[in-house]
Amino acid sequence: MTTLELDVIVRPRLRLALPLEHRSSFIEQLLPLAKENASMIVVMQSTATEEELNAVLARIQEHSLKGSVIYGEERNIVGVIGSAIPSTLREELERLPGVQEAVRITRPYKLAAREFHPQDTIVQVGDVAVGGGSFVVIAGPCAVESEAQIMATAFAVREAGAHMLRGGAFKPRSSPYTFRGLGEEGLRLLALARAETGLPIVTEVMTPTDVELVARYADVLQIGARNMQNFQLLEEAGRSGKPVLLKRGMSATIEEWLLSAEYIMAQGNPNVILCERGIRTFETATRNTMDLNAVALAKRRSHLPVVADPSHGTGKWYLVPPLALASLAAGADGVMIEVHPDPDRAASDGGQSLTCENFAALMPRMTALAELLGRKSHSLVAR
Ligand code: PEP
Ligand code: MN
Repeated sequence: MTTLELDVIVRPRLRLALPLEHRSSFIEQLLPLAKENASMIVVMQSTATEEELNAVLARIQEHSLKGSVIYGEERNIVGVIGSAIPSTLREELERLPGVQEAVRITRPYKLAAREFHPQDTIVQVGDVAVGGGSFVVIAGPCAVESEAQIMATAFAVREAGAHMLRGGAFKPRSSPYTFRGLGEEGLRLLALARAETGLPIVTEVMTPTDVELVARYADVLQIGARNMQNFQLLEEAGRSGKPVLLKRGMSATIEEWLLSAEYIMAQGNPNVILCERGIRTFETATRNTMDLNAVALAKRRSHLPVVADPSHGTGKWYLVPPLALASLAAGADGVMIEVHPDPDRAASDGGQSLTCENFAALMPRMTALAELLGRKSHSLVAR
């Protein structure tokens, strides 16, 4: 276990002990409190009596605050609604009989916050578990260009040990005159590549109206940097129930990024994977500045898995291997890497794409580092 993980796991006030078997319903239980903007939650013991619960509510009222009870199967929780929380309230409530723990929630996002859900969320994509200590590699071209291109890439990255295949069928491009993807034909080719290789597919959806179509083919819906605050798209992707890979906007703060995750989760979808892909800074020597602070901080503030995209984060193929390794060291749950069989002829992002050979050379280095860091490397073993 890394120092970082240790720090996250042993932070003392984060143990809410919501029972593991109720994890899938944590949104159901907490959403009403999130909507009321609860600033503290009180977790009652499973053995707490009605009188003990009423005593908690009475104490909350004494401070001119509102207590809102969520009755759970295993235990009840009380949300404290109101902003003027006295600094002593937490200790006061924890001293009352029947109270297991009181936790202050100061962040504007709730469902995505680690305070609400201390244990790591694991997003299951087919057989691949994202989050919770393993390290996942998503690889493939920026855009699906042809059957030959996506098949060659899919087989090569699987051979090298990748766990998922990426590829854009709907491409957000800065210029309307460049290649914008094959559309549904691209999705069909991705599905074919999945059928042939067994790799789950990650592909971008750009509009709310396309969610239904893309979700029919994709295993993971990617929401791109330019769409991080397309709130209708976030909600539609949330309603689809599919895992969503949410890229950080190129000028978005970490808080805004987590609030966008909250939009997806507030639709009842806990399967959000955060993706740091570099931000705009004053630096022009690289396409973006890969913000590894954000990887480590997002892991600390949120229970959601975080993957890093050093391809867009640097814009240069030769910077991808060092930054992929650095992302792993910073605590990322995985990386997403652009790979193309012939980057010089790629329709998009060729300059930041690894060749299949360079990708294959990087994989054993990542496995070695993962082992060194005590990460579960089972998922890095080549099939
Ligand atoms: C991509 O993954 O190819 C892409 C367009 O990424 P981003 O949204 O991060 O620019
Ligand atoms: Mn790209």
